[in-house]
Amino acid sequence: MSELTLRVIAYGGRDSRVEISILYPIPEHLRGSSYVKTWCMDLVKELHPDLKHNSSWGCVECSKPARETNVTTVTWTHLPEPQAVVYIYHLCEAGRNRCNKEVLALNRMMAAMTPGAGPQRPAIHKKRPGVEYPLSASCCKCKKNSTGSPDAGLRRCGGCKLSRYCGTECQTADWPRHKQLCKYIKSVEWVN
Ligand SMILES: [Zn+2]
Ligand SMILES: [Zn+2]
Ligand SMILES: [Zn+2]
Repeated sequence: MSELTLRVIAYGGRDSRVEISILYPIPEHLRGSSYVKTWCMDLVKELHPDLKHNSSWGCVECSKPARETNVTTVTWTHLPEPQAVVYIYHLCEAGRNRCNKEVLALNRMMAAMTPGAGPQRPAIHKKRPGVEYPLSASCCKCKKNSTGSPDAGLRRCGGCKLSRYCGTECQTADWPRHKQLCKYIKSVEWVN
């Protein structure tokens, strides 16, 4: 009732995957109300830098360096113990390209198989032409392309063992935001 059990499963190229368990306190004034769902969707958006910038992810379909994500959240926030599962697919591009088409088809299949609580995608802002999103492999704070190269030596936060930074300067600068998540991460399990 007082905490949201959030499970995040992120998929990348070459069958790589991470499963993250988060136990996040629900703000007191929202507990037991229908607003928990909205709050949960906002939370997933806020945590996006940490959920994206944590490994040298490749596109789930073509294995090229990933820059975008397809995020689907399934919520059971009406239950006595509110839960949500976030599926993240790392992609080269999340637009109307071939790679995302495969993922969208998978999403539709999943929606058909989930009774009651249907999967929800966050409101997607239209990408302006010519805009390039930062590499998933880049630093969680500065998101510079140069930090996304394999020899950039990014280090994971010692607290959560998830978010990656190019140095202490970026980690310190991101702390006021990242600390909202860091201590609530219960486990991070890497596959491949
Ligand atoms: Zn691709
Ligand atoms: Zn940085
Ligand atoms: Zn951390």
